[in-house]
Amino acid sequence: MEDSKALHVVVFPWLAMGHIIPFFHLSEHLAQKGHKVSFVSTPRNLQRLPKIPQNLSYLLTVVSLPLPHVEALPPHAESSTDIPPKQAPFLKKAFDLLELPLKNFLENTAPDWIIYDYASHWLPPLAAKLGISRAYFGPFTAASLAFVVPPASEMDGGDLRLKPEDFTVVPKWVPFESNVKYHLHELLAVADDSLSGIESGTSDTVRFAVSIGESDVVGIRSCVEFEPEWFNLLEVIHRKPVLPVGFLPQLVEEGGDEIDERWVGIKEWLDKQRLESVVYVALGSEATLSREQLTELALGLEQSELPFFWVLRKLPWSNQDALEMLPDGFEERVEGRGMVYVGWAPQVKILSHKSVGGFLTHCGWNSVIEGLGSGRVLILFPVLNDQGLNARLLHGKKLGVEIARNELDGSFTHDSVAKSVKLAVVEEEGESLRATAKEMKCLFGDTNRNDRHIDAFIRHLEENRRSPR
Ligand code: UDP
Repeated sequence: MEDSKALHVVVFPWLAMGHIIPFFHLSEHLAQKGHKVSFVSTPRNLQRLPKIPQNLSYLLTVVSLPLPHVEALPPHAESSTDIPPKQAPFLKKAFDLLELPLKNFLENTAPDWIIYDYASHWLPPLAAKLGISRAYFGPFTAASLAFVVPPASEMDGGDLRLKPEDFTVVPKWVPFESNVKYHLHELLAVADDSLSGIESGTSDTVRFAVSIGESDVVGIRSCVEFEPEWFNLLEVIHRKPVLPVGFLPQLVEEGGDEIDERWVGIKEWLDKQRLESVVYVALGSEATLSREQLTELALGLEQSELPFFWVLRKLPWSNQDALEMLPDGFEERVEGRGMVYVGWAPQVKILSHKSVGGFLTHCGWNSVIEGLGSGRVLILFPVLNDQGLNARLLHGKKLGVEIARNELDGSFTHDSVAKSVKLAVVEEEGESLRATAKEMKCLFGDTNRNDRHIDAFIRHLEENRRSPR
């Protein structure tokens, strides 16, 4: 691309791996088109990025902004993966203090566009003042965005904070299929919104409303072909272009050499298992389970009698050995059949291994894309944030089996875990689910379709640059 036509785009995600990774992939695509990209984040999060492909390194550069200190946060916390979920509001408080250093960077570099996330409600007015165009990028489904953003008429004044009781019913701006019911436990995390707002200074509802409301364009990490009904709704709600960006599957495997070394051992274990027999169990980078929940999950996997590979997170804020949280004698009883892996696993590689049959997932959107992109049937186990809504969307589209939960408190039993896992992976009744999951591999992994969407999004940025330089 001629230098005069190339854009300078600043990319600024919220401090969570589930956001940082798709924003990084979007950055790679922009650089591949010849645009200059400044990926802005905090030092520790930048260290966690995948390696920048060598051919893009002169266009895609990182900009490090140290995270200002906030008392309630542990010293090295820079991402939601470093803290228990209840501390997230304090991370947002620290994130809000990045406004000044980011302003200095934007004033000095005068980019054409800034692509940002829901937490940066202070950014659109700032960018507008500096004459920088603004793209809100939602790394989640169009469906979940319809739940978190009130329509313009609701935003005109008044208290935007939703009360817990508002979540026992579906928000009134969402047209609803009568046969789909959302349960309170799936929305509990969102219902904490008012508390979260008090601790961080701004509720998530306001963050979403302002960051989307004051953008020039909204990009969503999904495809119209997957959720046409929700894309249509979002256009109506926002009265501005709402563009699919495609699923942004990974161009490169995450992580460095350490992970690759570990992959050798994991692959050796997977190689010994039968074709499509293994249940891969992983709950992303934020969700934490109580000892009771871990026990039920463990006993359910044991009862299923299926081989499994279970990734347990090492919690940076806890001295507790993750394995000690498992029921007594569990590892011995499942030896040879079940592998418990503590740490950051090479998820995409594992999912694409031929021995994996099903994916017991917390329904984080990255994980769903990776699971369906590998054609794996999903066992749905949402824990927080948008995950409950994703589970409902996937259940509605017959792409997974939900582990049965108590409607009020979200509790579950090992029986329900074993039942869902067996149905998804081995039982005849689950055959059609497995077939549908395999079909999804074509949609989620269709490089041409994904490229078409992202190309159209990038073209929109190129054609709507405010002032040619
Ligand atoms: N991930 C990984 N190894 C792990 C845990 C997570 O590679 O041990 C990656 C996973 O492949 C996905 C991301 O981290 O790309 C998690 O994102 P997701 O949206 O699924 O969940 P969240 O981070 O929001 O919990």
